[in-house]
Amino acid sequence: MEEKANPFRNLPKVDAMLERSDVQSLLSSYPRWVVIEGLRRILEEKRKAIKEGLISSISSDEIAKELIDRIDEFSSPSLRRVINATGVVLHTNLGRAPLAKEAVEALCEIAPNYSNLELDLKTGKRGLRYTHVVQIIKRITSCESALVVNNNASAVFLILNTLAKGREVIVSRGELIEIGGAFRLPDVMESAGAILKEVGTTNRTRVSDYENAINENTALILKAHTSNYKIMGFVESPSLKELTELGKKHGIPVYADLGSGLFVDVRKFGLPHEPTVFEVLKSGVDLVSFSGDKLLGATQAGIILGKRELIEKLRKNPINRVLRIDKLTLSALEATLRLYMEEPEEKIPVLQMLKTPLAKLQERATELKDAIGTIPQLRIDIKKAKSAVGGGALPLAELDTVCVCLSSEKLSAKEIEERLRTKPKIPVISRIKDDTVLLDLRTIRDDEIEIAAKSVREAFS
Ligand SMILES: *Cc1c(COP(=O)(O)O)cnc(C)c1O
Repeated sequence: MEEKANPFRNLPKVDAMLERSDVQSLLSSYPRWVVIEGLRRILEEKRKAIKEGLISSISSDEIAKELIDRIDEFSSPSLRRVINATGVVLHTNLGRAPLAKEAVEALCEIAPNYSNLELDLKTGKRGLRYTHVVQIIKRITSCESALVVNNNASAVFLILNTLAKGREVIVSRGELIEIGGAFRLPDVMESAGAILKEVGTTNRTRVSDYENAINENTALILKAHTSNYKIMGFVESPSLKELTELGKKHGIPVYADLGSGLFVDVRKFGLPHEPTVFEVLKSGVDLVSFSGDKLLGATQAGIILGKRELIEKLRKNPINRVLRIDKLTLSALEATLRLYMEEPEEKIPVLQMLKTPLAKLQERATELKDAIGTIPQLRIDIKKAKSAVGGGALPLAELDTVCVCLSSEKLSAKEIEERLRTKPKIPVISRIKDDTVLLDLRTIRDDEIEIAAKSVREAFS
């Protein structure tokens, strides 16, 4: 009677489960917390299923069996390595830029040890954590001063909050960007306490529009890079140079949010022209900011360059402390920046990928196809395709690429894509075009070919 009234009473307790010999033997191979966490989760699910009337009871034997089946899943980390077969070099969902070997070495040196993070080794006095990267940024770009914060969104926020709190910021209506997630320029402006002064129209904004908007409450002129869209056709917007001249005339600082910071000219990769940080600085802007993990190819960071007195103001804003970067970021960022003084295109993965010639991609595709071998349900071909750069950089640019294409009579492209993503130990993230799954060789390194092939085989075993 009692049992019927309360089916939850039949659910075994964690403690009782832990005493079973089959669960005990799991404890010899897995940490105790993993086993307990696994049990808790299964019991939680069963409780829910009972509540919803999906099951009426469950035995401890069944729970133990389920735990043994699922323990691998519970014990593997949530953040895992994947193979990026999308061809999108800067994929925000896949962690944007993979780091250079030199950056990883720097991380391994700094992470487990103490460091001079905020110690000036010459004087023995307290130093600034930014010094380590600022010196090198100055050397690369010849800027007056620099600051690094958590990401470029923080950089935008810090600049607006420091220079324009309670005052107006002039922005063209064609540049009121949404980068994705919660980053929408008008909202960031509002949370930073700045007042958005929109000028011009979606497609055309002239210098005179900016000039007419200037009043005694104007704090800043902002030029935002339209990173993920392009307005085409009847368009006009003033150059940065024209804006900086206007700014000088009225004593108003001009800030360029570049989005993706570039130290190399991407035209040599067959991509359309994108102004480099040098070009932008040359136009006379007072401040420029960009991401560390877009085309720069380093870690997540927001890099701010510009006039010394403005950078000082930013550094002293208490919010800067909230946005500060940690030593791991700094070590990898400094190491990556150093590569710009050597051979960036040979050593920075993002640039290497953009640079890879078609013939090389073709070769890799053949290697991957051979390494996969034959899989009964699958048809495997090699085809040319186009891929995007991604990551809020070069929105319309396409690169020629080569793909290994997977299709099947029995499985839909969606099912193939899902298997590749969910079944292998190292998941393969692919893209679908014309009902075919494409594995794009631009973002699969030579040393990943074997791993990718193994994962593909695992997905269909
Ligand atoms: C990407 C981007 C940002 C945000 O940078 P995060 O590093 O992702 O914080 C801001 N502005 C522009 C123009 C961007 O392209």
